[in-house]
Amino acid sequence: MQLVLLGTAGGPRPFPGRGAPAQAIVYDGQIYVVDCGNGVARQMVLAGLRLADLRAVFLSHHHADHMLDIGALPFLAWTDGRSEPVDVVGPPPLRTVLDHFLAMVNVDLTARQQTTGRRPFADLLRVSEVVSSSRVWAADGLQVRCCLVDHPPVRPSLAYRFECSGRSIVISGDTRYSPALVRLARGADVLVHEAYYGAAVEGHELRLANAPSLAEHIVACHTEVQDVGRVAREAEVGLLVLSHLVPADPAVADEAWLASARSSFAGPVVLGRDFQVI
Ligand SMILES: [Zn+2]
Repeated sequence: MQLVLLGTAGGPRPFPGRGAPAQAIVYDGQIYVVDCGNGVARQMVLAGLRLADLRAVFLSHHHADHMLDIGALPFLAWTDGRSEPVDVVGPPPLRTVLDHFLAMVNVDLTARQQTTGRRPFADLLRVSEVVSSSRVWAADGLQVRCCLVDHPPVRPSLAYRFECSGRSIVISGDTRYSPALVRLARGADVLVHEAYYGAAVEGHELRLANAPSLAEHIVACHTEVQDVGRVAREAEVGLLVLSHLVPADPAVADEAWLASARSSFAGPVVLGRDFQVI
């Protein structure tokens, strides 16, 4: 089971050096994507992954940086030749969102199905809405569990744990410090956790007109990088990967991110980079 970081920025604004937050888990020739911000399909192609191998998509929550391309990704996998089902798993109103997407691309779908003779795209989509901590996948040698995390005001928000062949990878989604996530991540080989850098956020270095209110949201609903280290320590994970970085531009030096996480976690820490394979 291989983890590929497809995007490591936090927030919906595009950045030159980092894509919207997304991860690919590659196992036995199939691809499982966690979160679908803008540009995720292109990030997969740039990472050397075949869109047609997309098996399932897991959505953490309905903030735009995680879901703008939730319809586009399976759609583009279909145009890349996928004819087998793509499962899409995540919180409500996932079904409604995908129905709206189908309506949005209906002109293209109708024309493309006529000209290519492809199996109708809508037949590929298998949607599962998740409202509680539970096992959400047990197939193809892979098991996936999720838990509810704490990311107000978006509820439910989910974290996911992937397991196969004795290896485990946990993706935090967006959350402030969450005891449920510590339990889900217990003993995991890899924890990919969102992080913000407190001094940069509280100093309003986000270069936005609404920086003060945005900073309040970030502090209230996300996890400061030192507390991310605390989560990794309490869960006793094997490797901590910092991702969904706020700020996502190079305003904070790599060493500052790492030093802050290491101040509360003695294990190995990686500052996530787009296209990094773990
Ligand atoms: Zn986010």
